[in-house]
Amino acid sequence: SEDKKIILDSIRDIPDFPKPGIIFKDITTLLSTPDAFNTLMTHLENRYESYDLDYVAGIDARGFIFGSILADRLGVGFVPVRKKGKLPYTTVAEKYSLEYGFDEVEIHIDAFGEKEDPKVLLIDDLIATGGTAKAAANLIDKVGANCVEACFIMELAFLNGRQGFDAPVYSVLEID
Ligand code: 5GP
Repeated sequence: SEDKKIILDSIRDIPDFPKPGIIFKDITTLLSTPDAFNTLMTHLENRYESYDLDYVAGIDARGFIFGSILADRLGVGFVPVRKKGKLPYTTVAEKYSLEYGFDEVEIHIDAFGEKEDPKVLLIDDLIATGGTAKAAANLIDKVGANCVEACFIMELAFLNGRQGFDAPVYSVLEID
């Protein structure tokens, strides 16, 4: 669609970042293009206004940008899923594998308040292998909330990261 083209055209490819052979999708140019940024946020607001969400949870760090704007537009709370060691209160942690070694994400144990089974949308800028987002979805589950969907601006479809996700996965742009 025309909306998706405006968004796609605002994202640039950076070859050999962070390592030789990797083509990094750079969304800073999306953020600095008001028409594209606004088109994206309105697209997400239109999709999720009927979901009756309680929270949007964003993944460190680019998921914070899209997630907090979306939460504000929907009139719900925002919850950060952070890299290890950043959150000040009691946390629950989840490790996930990288190509070499592992990384770890954390969430506050009381992040989703008192309500029974709150509905949470998980959001990040990009899904590659899916390791980061699956760890984040597990954290939402571990602290007693319900991840109703995982949303990404971009999906590297050839990596099949959506496979094995318990929640439905939505991506604005699929990259082959
Ligand atoms: P995964 O765990 O799915 O393999 O990697 C996804 C995570 O790495 C996300 O948090 C995402 O922000 C980051 N990431 C990996 N590759 C890219 C890329 O090409 N562009 C951007 N913007 N983020 C990436």
